[in-house]
Amino acid sequence: MLTSEQVKKHAREVGADIVSIGTMDRFDGAPPQMDPRWMMPTAKSIVAMGFRHARGCFRGIEEGTFFTAYNAMGYASINYIEQPYVLHELARLFEDHGCDAMPIPNNFPWNNINASGWTPPEETEKPNFNKAKPLTEDRPAPDVFIQLRLAAYAAGLGEIGFSKMFLSKEFGPRQRIAVLLTDAELEPDPVVKPGTLCDKCMLCAKACTGNAIPLDKTVKVTIAGNEIEWADIDMKTCGTYFCGGNPATNPFAVTPEDKETFGKTVGIAQDHKLKPIYMYARALEGASGCIRACMIHLENQGKLGCTFDQPFRKKTPWRIPQDGNP
Ligand code: SF4
Repeated sequence: MLTSEQVKKHAREVGADIVSIGTMDRFDGAPPQMDPRWMMPTAKSIVAMGFRHARGCFRGIEEGTFFTAYNAMGYASINYIEQPYVLHELARLFEDHGCDAMPIPNNFPWNNINASGWTPPEETEKPNFNKAKPLTEDRPAPDVFIQLRLAAYAAGLGEIGFSKMFLSKEFGPRQRIAVLLTDAELEPDPVVKPGTLCDKCMLCAKACTGNAIPLDKTVKVTIAGNEIEWADIDMKTCGTYFCGGNPATNPFAVTPEDKETFGKTVGIAQDHKLKPIYMYARALEGASGCIRACMIHLENQGKLGCTFDQPFRKKTPWRIPQDGNP
């Protein structure tokens, strides 16, 4: 019989950085549209894996000189190359032991989420019947949406920070998540107590170049008996500013038209300025608050397992003066 140790060892050997396992009853109370048990009713376990962004992917953005590494090697290649490969290899292990495995990387489009990507939390669980209808009244509409960060929490991989980013004890906010559902019964890991890593310092909110992380508006959910709270991120603002919407932190915003439209249309960021690598070139802000500020804070506190000889930040973050203002 397959054991948790075998699963974790294999996942690491084929490329995952961190691995954790949870039971499906931890999804009790989830809205049906977001409950993975509707995707795989026979599932007994969920395996969550974290794939690190190399810290060096952020170096060029921190210096203001090289922006492609985070887009390509820190973001898109993890989604489109590493995760599908590792999930495929892990699914083979389960099948070789007579178990079903459903691999779910970070890049699925989740077609039936209500609205088109800027869905407020209270709307996310509702299906969009213009896209697909349930087969019967008692089941959710396809495709059921699995919230990967919450699924990873349920599997014990880490916690949700105030920034809504997933934080692991190894890398803080510096990873992307993939999960696998299986009918194998595996020994679970405990969930992480909220507050183990995030001390609500609010540095993520202060450093966000779009002010997309509100200090006074939060979302709360309960998973496996733990109440988890995060900032009710303005996702539309986040979507604009993480793509370079603030000209003071985007050296590619050169013309008045750039400054007006950068981040507001995919074309400006992807096609007009940086060449998309692995279909992606948009993350120009370099996750100023939700990754860089948080990572620096957690590293400074000695909370993370992945340590470095040199601190990441050695000087005040750069800003491009706008209209004569520094
Ligand atoms: S920067 Fe501070 S408040 Fe924000 S997620 Fe990290 S630890 Fe939590």
